[in-house]
Amino acid sequence: MEKIIVGIKGVPKPGTVKVDPETYTLKRESMDLILNPYDRYALEMAVQLKEKYKSEVVVISMGPFNVIPILKQAYALGADKMILISDKLFAGSDTLGTSYVLARAIEKISPFSIILMGVKSIDSETSQVGPETASFLNIPSITFVKEIFKENDHWIVIRETDYGEEEVEVEGPFLATVSTSLNYVRPPSLKRILEVKNREPLFWNAQDLKVEEEKVGLKGSPTQVVSVEEKKVEAKGIIIEDEPKVLVEKLIDLLKEKGIIK
Ligand SMILES: Cc1cc2nc3c(=O)[nH]c(=O)nc-3n(C[C@H](O)[C@H](O)[C@H](O)COP(=O)(O)OP(=O)(O)OC[C@H]3O[C@@H](n4cnc5c(N)ncnc54)[C@H](O)[C@@H]3O)c2cc1C
Repeated sequence: MEKIIVGIKGVPKPGTVKVDPETYTLKRESMDLILNPYDRYALEMAVQLKEKYKSEVVVISMGPFNVIPILKQAYALGADKMILISDKLFAGSDTLGTSYVLARAIEKISPFSIILMGVKSIDSETSQVGPETASFLNIPSITFVKEIFKENDHWIVIRETDYGEEEVEVEGPFLATVSTSLNYVRPPSLKRILEVKNREPLFWNAQDLKVEEEKVGLKGSPTQVVSVEEKKVEAKGIIIEDEPKVLVEKLIDLLKEKGIIK
């Protein structure tokens, strides 16, 4: 059976982000995580392809153990197998380190026909992980994909561009990042929510994947965060609405009150 692999990321629930003040890394273990919203589209496309071509959908995620509920959510949304890739050695990996580890895991899952990922994450937003993973695997990567179908022995991939659409023909395994233009994303099924209660993801660590230590974690990440600043939210402006004559008077009063004019 053909395998479709979907990379999903557990991202901090907006408002719960904590940054380590010394290393400037995200404290991922203590945050509430949600499924990266863009990955929902990748998963939906995978499930649609599975229904059409009788394939198996394997979801993989690299992250700490609090990603497990996210993997289970993906199962409820139609995935068949869940794999968690986790190791203390991976902490602090930038996109290069992350992609290297994901590629090693995908090699272990091989053979596969398609890898689907979101176009970006909502926490780091680099859009690098898809193309970098494909590069490690030495397979084509196609970004902003809105449709995939088979024609004879090859795949036709429709991707969005700034000016319209592009049709790409590709043979063999490839990686696609999925755009948000799918107009339907299914809700989780009750049957699967109950089913997944008795299932646990497969777990792979650095040793299982035979990763080279110097290629992961802070040590293996060529990009380093040198400073993090909290963005100051400016106070909202005051909006005065009225008839023009009254409005002018109100504005003058307000400026006097603030000591801007006398
Ligand atoms: C300069 C820099 C330094 C960083 N330093 C640190 C650090 O010190 N500590 C730290 O914790 N993080 C760090 N990060 C964040 C870390 O690199 C990212 O969490 C990770 O590499 C994924 O990149 P991204 O979120 O930009 O993914 P994108 O490339 O925007 O994501 C695209 C898609 O890739 C897939 N994907 C992404 N990540 C995963 C994953 N983990 N598992 C499965 N699929 C995935 C998803 O399908 C996602 O939709 C750093 C990022 C940068 C840019």
